[in-house]
Amino acid sequence: MNFRDSEALKAVLEADGHTLVDNESEADLVLLNTCSVRDCAEAKAIGKARRLLQNKRTNLRYRLGIIGCMAARRGQQLTKLLPQLDWVLPPTSLNDIPHIIQETLRTNTPKVITNFQSYNFACYEQPLPFTPVRWIPIQQGCSMGCSYCIVPHTRGHQQNRPFDSILREIQTAADQGTREIILLGQIVNAYRDNGKTFVDLLHAIQAIDGIERIRFISPHPTFFTDQLIQCFKTLPKCCPSVHLPIQSASNRILQHMHRGYTQETLTALIQALRTIQPQLSLSTDLIVGYPGETDADFEQTVQFFKKIQFDMAYIFKYSPRPNTPAAELVAVHGIPKDVQEKRNQVLLDCLSQSSLRYNQQFVHTYQSVLVEGHAPKGAHKLFGRTIVNKKVIFDGDSSLIGSFQSVWIERATTSVLEGCIKPV
Ligand code: SF4
Repeated sequence: MNFRDSEALKAVLEADGHTLVDNESEADLVLLNTCSVRDCAEAKAIGKARRLLQNKRTNLRYRLGIIGCMAARRGQQLTKLLPQLDWVLPPTSLNDIPHIIQETLRTNTPKVITNFQSYNFACYEQPLPFTPVRWIPIQQGCSMGCSYCIVPHTRGHQQNRPFDSILREIQTAADQGTREIILLGQIVNAYRDNGKTFVDLLHAIQAIDGIERIRFISPHPTFFTDQLIQCFKTLPKCCPSVHLPIQSASNRILQHMHRGYTQETLTALIQALRTIQPQLSLSTDLIVGYPGETDADFEQTVQFFKKIQFDMAYIFKYSPRPNTPAAELVAVHGIPKDVQEKRNQVLLDCLSQSSLRYNQQFVHTYQSVLVEGHAPKGAHKLFGRTIVNKKVIFDGDSSLIGSFQSVWIERATTSVLEGCIKPV
């Protein structure tokens, strides 16, 4: 979400006459879009802001703002820590930032906003440069109240983007040549707008010419309705790849986390998805070392992981976030760092095996790949993704970016497929 918010912010600033520079050392005005999900992300952003503020010594025009989740969470506290800051603005301010900047430059008064306003989703309709894949925010905030999560404190309660605004952005992207869209939100399948549901949204996008692939991130297991499961059969553009954050497979821990499901309901959901879509790619998020997680709890997660064979996972060591119920458990029930580390490694080993096994099935097959851009390493290397969201690296030139190519897969690792374009 932060990445897409930064794109939107760039677009609204450019529309207001600002010029983006490639190198931060050339900038007179810097906005740090921050994350609060983990403690280390905040510490890194504060360190960076401290270094950047040194520029004020030599550049009298230099301005620095902190925006995003950390700004929402820490508000005035940040100005005490970093008194030279010009702006501290929560994620709800995106649309108003050009106006706020003008005000500060005119009055020479720093601006700190600590109260949550409503999201104004109009910023996401600012034109963006063409990309083969477009991230489409459909909501902000979350009202679920998971015990460990800071999002409701930093982004507020769930607010849904108007249905028509989403479709307008997708139509504009399709007209530019975008072929794949990824619907983005904290809990996308809880989307509602004036009686329209997430399933209605998928059906409406299916009808947009030019868009060939639809993905979404992140759904919540509890809101995976039968109608949504059916979409993987009835909507050809709905890609058979699901990111299903489960966090744990111990019912005791899931209950503490207020996740609202059990290992049994997860099993039934995954079975239903795989029955509808046998080639489904399934990824997840997991937290290890949640306060009070016993060896037996963790073992249930390991066994579940092995049974389901997730082909991708983001595994996090629990990090206490202020003002969350789970953080209050740490003093008595906190899991030592070395135990967290070991559990993390156990799951990473499981993941290596399952992801390699999954990826190897594609070796010596042709895969339809949407070419997204140049691969970071290797001259003349391109990258793209298969229908099940696997990254593919192959030789090719820029003219292929934005097109679908049939790529012969030669090798698989845990994280990528490597191949070449050759006649079928
Ligand atoms: S559903 Fe996701 S974003 Fe919402 S509170 Fe739970 S973990 Fe946080």
